[in-house]
Amino acid sequence: MSAERVVILGAGLAGSLLAIYLARRGFSVDVYEGRPDLRTTEIPAGRSINLALANRGIRALTEVGLYKSVRELLITMRGRMLHEAGRAEAFQPYGKNDDEVIYSVSRGGLNELLLNTAQHQYGVRFHFDQRVMAANMRSGEVRLRDSDGRQYVIDQQPLIAADGAGSIVRRQMSKLPGYHAREDYLPHAYKELSIAPTADGGHAIDANSLHIWPRGDYMLIALPNLDGSFTVTLFLARHGHPGFDTLSTPAELNQFFKAQFPDVLELIPDLEDQFFANPVGVMGTVYCAPWRVGGKFLLVGDAAHSIVPFHGQGMNCAFEDCYELDRCIESNQYAGPRGWERVFARFEANRKANTDAIAAMALENYVEMRDSVRDPRFHLKKKLAWELERRFPDTFVPRYSLVMFHHVPYAEAQRRGIIQQEILEQLLGPSSNLEDVDYDQAEKLIKQRLAPAAETTLS
Ligand SMILES: Cc1cc2nc3c(=O)[nH]c(=O)nc-3n(C[C@H](O)[C@H](O)[C@H](O)COP(=O)(O)OP(=O)(O)OC[C@H]3O[C@@H](n4cnc5c(N)ncnc54)[C@H](O)[C@@H]3O)c2cc1C
Repeated sequence: MSAERVVILGAGLAGSLLAIYLARRGFSVDVYEGRPDLRTTEIPAGRSINLALANRGIRALTEVGLYKSVRELLITMRGRMLHEAGRAEAFQPYGKNDDEVIYSVSRGGLNELLLNTAQHQYGVRFHFDQRVMAANMRSGEVRLRDSDGRQYVIDQQPLIAADGAGSIVRRQMSKLPGYHAREDYLPHAYKELSIAPTADGGHAIDANSLHIWPRGDYMLIALPNLDGSFTVTLFLARHGHPGFDTLSTPAELNQFFKAQFPDVLELIPDLEDQFFANPVGVMGTVYCAPWRVGGKFLLVGDAAHSIVPFHGQGMNCAFEDCYELDRCIESNQYAGPRGWERVFARFEANRKANTDAIAAMALENYVEMRDSVRDPRFHLKKKLAWELERRFPDTFVPRYSLVMFHHVPYAEAQRRGIIQQEILEQLLGPSSNLEDVDYDQAEKLIKQRLAPAAETTLS
């Protein structure tokens, strides 16, 4: 009997990893991608040249035996290096110990590894330069356009749409009765710049940190690359003072960087050229439901739940989708007329509350990165949180750690995070000194409010 065929739309991070998962289960997989093959074509990165990879993404890559190869692409980031105006740089570790770290990885390098593995190891068929133009939700037909502009229709289900934040499939799905989709754009946008390697090929600033220049309403960040360079991202209002629309001349740009980021200006001598050549990217959150039409169509990754990048979780969450969908396939009968419908329904039921939670936490983290990190009380609470984690390791785990270093469902991390914040506030009161904390009271509060859930959810 020939293998059942599954079609994936989009060969980005989610689409290419999902292709591997499905091919491992014996499906015959075709992937249609709108852009040319990134392995043979110079494609402008478009968005985020490098990304932060954390535990959820690592688990999904490990499951398909890829993490060993991925490791070669990674640079460890142990914490945030804060560059506050007029102060010495200050390092804030991400976790309570040395293995609680995240990694910088090249988007292109990772995507290439996934494509090669899917194609050469698992026989996945990729069709590049084939753009989805429309999808008929009722018939299941999808209309594509090839690189010569010719249009054709494929009629093959199930069809999994991993076509990213601007998903055509989602936009068409949302027109069905009972469906909705919302794209909430931030008033802030971003622009990528680059710090070149030093003359001897090294990193110009600490290679093992995620650098942040927090300035209240805006910020710069920099993530290291293996070749010694850094990818720098300016997050700034689209309109206003300062805003991308008012940095329209070299004089305005230089004045802004001289006043706010003088050290970065020194590190990017060709700032003007880069700034005016590179595009401004928008950021937003996608909320939509349902994510599926019977057993015909399913949305995954950014197509279903694009989030703002401030928790470094969009790709991690998309990879977790692949992991979870695979588990739904494993534990459900996908065979038979209603099989895929059951799998898709289970997947959405498992994921939706969790992706809503990470969307909210990612928005909150923007304020933390550009502003709260400058507040001494924020650091005091962080220190107390680690102390509580040291004393009650199975129960009190800071929310950031739950998201980045554990696999607790996002919604559970969010729920525990709210309780933990209340406990921290209660224990500190108006004090600014950790020595005032009553740890007997801490134990009581933690037992009362957190203990019962811990063992079942921490992994
Ligand atoms: C500035 C920025 C920084 C980020 N930093 C991080 C980070 O540090 N850590 C992290 O985990 N996440 C980060 N993210 C989020 C991450 O990039 C996304 O969550 C991730 O790329 C989602 O993968 P995806 O496969 O769902 O979508 P994508 O990677 O966008 O892939 C979608 C694919 O579909 C293709 N496609 C689109 N439309 C069509 C069509 N009509 N027909 C055919 N093909 C189509 C596209 O060409 C693309 O290849 C960041 C995002 C941004 C914008």
